[in-house]
Amino acid sequence: MSTPKIQSVRGMNDILPDEAEFWGLFEETVCSWLKSYGYRPIRLPVVEPTPLFKRAIGEVTDIVEKEMYSFVDSLNGEPLTLRPEGTAGCVRAVIQHNLLAQQPQRLYYLGQMFRHERPQKGRYRQFHQVGVESFGFAGPDIDAEQILMGARLWGDLGLDGISLQLNTLGQADERARHREELIAYFERNRQMLDDDACRRLHSNPLRILDSKNPALQDLILGAPRLIDHLGAASMAHFEGVQHVLRDAGVPFTINPRLVRGLDYYNLTVFEWVTDRLGAQGTVCAGGRYDGLVEQLGGKPAPACGFAMGVERLVGLLRDAGGETKGAAMDVYLVHQGHAASRLAVRVAEGLRDAGVDVLFHCGGGSFKSQMKKADASGATFAVIIGDDEAAVGEVALKPLRADEAPANKQKRVKVDDLADEIMRCLFDWEES
Ligand code: ATP
Ligand code: MG
Repeated sequence: MSTPKIQSVRGMNDILPDEAEFWGLFEETVCSWLKSYGYRPIRLPVVEPTPLFKRAIGEVTDIVEKEMYSFVDSLNGEPLTLRPEGTAGCVRAVIQHNLLAQQPQRLYYLGQMFRHERPQKGRYRQFHQVGVESFGFAGPDIDAEQILMGARLWGDLGLDGISLQLNTLGQADERARHREELIAYFERNRQMLDDDACRRLHSNPLRILDSKNPALQDLILGAPRLIDHLGAASMAHFEGVQHVLRDAGVPFTINPRLVRGLDYYNLTVFEWVTDRLGAQGTVCAGGRYDGLVEQLGGKPAPACGFAMGVERLVGLLRDAGGETKGAAMDVYLVHQGHAASRLAVRVAEGLRDAGVDVLFHCGGGSFKSQMKKADASGATFAVIIGDDEAAVGEVALKPLRADEAPANKQKRVKVDDLADEIMRCLFDWEES
């Protein structure tokens, strides 16, 4: 009887090397993009106290009601949760370490999030987000800057077909007046509501607008609009954001039904959406959350941020035919014989000192079989060392992609000259 295999947890994926190289490309692009806007990294725990999320995200939300991986620490009885999103933890850290004492902050993080959802394409139980947050800026300029950041990133990644949806959620008092009308409207149409909507009718009617149930869409379309309940200050903020976007030539659609799945937002909310990922088309979402810092026990501070779904964006990057460096190596090092193999280790380390990537043949075998592996490896050169070469401190250097450089034949090179010779050839090829 064979031992049963252990599989990964449903909805939690391994990212294998071919795929992981696209992740690397994505992360490199993202980090330099963030730096160009003055955002600094912050690294946060994956596990946080459960009350943090209940207080921040809101009790009557999909995430807190049914998507959180919560458990009790068996050693001390503390209620803990695998983070379903990053903003709450980031705000906790900002308060805990008093980061706003001196100056506003622009922060970002990248990492796993966990939500117990039904797994499907673009929706997983462990997924990754890049989160971008700013603290201490109250005006529409930072909202607009964060939206412009998105537009630039899609360009940097070479992605097109990602469009911007924009809305404003106003302030608490404006939402309260709208809420009453909304409840009355849904009460009048109670027979059309589904179970979820009925349950939220009095606890969180705004959430009903976020429902994905196709049967509710007409009803939602006819619902009273929050935007009609906004006062002058909220309207001015919203217009301030739009001005900057128009000046920058970033097109957007105002979507009055865009309310976001978390309770902490106010004023500006936005989503970047593609039509290429089916129902899971939102690749980036965010907005302003001015009340959250105070709500989590800090001194009041305005804040604004967004999160990107990395799986969805890397998927688009792959589909767009993006290229990674792959596993391509500069050198495959072939060696046989006792003295040759000792020299080979030294040669390999010396080449790496000079910045050359070396795949060192392990596992012995004949020259012939090693050369086959070298050819199959995709490396640019084979460096070949036998005892004869070793005896005189030389190696054979053989271009493996001869089609690219027909003039280059195999030749003998002194060990001391090898790195220079390889660098020279790589440089010449790049030039040609
Ligand atoms: P959705 O409406 O798709 O459920 P959401 O409003 O729950 O999204 P946010 O909490 O705003 O999502 O998260 C920001 C982004 O993270 C989303 O736009 C999406 O790209 C990504 N994301 C959210 N949940 C998942 C998931 N389960 N798997 C993969 N990516 C996700
Ligand atoms: Mg969701």
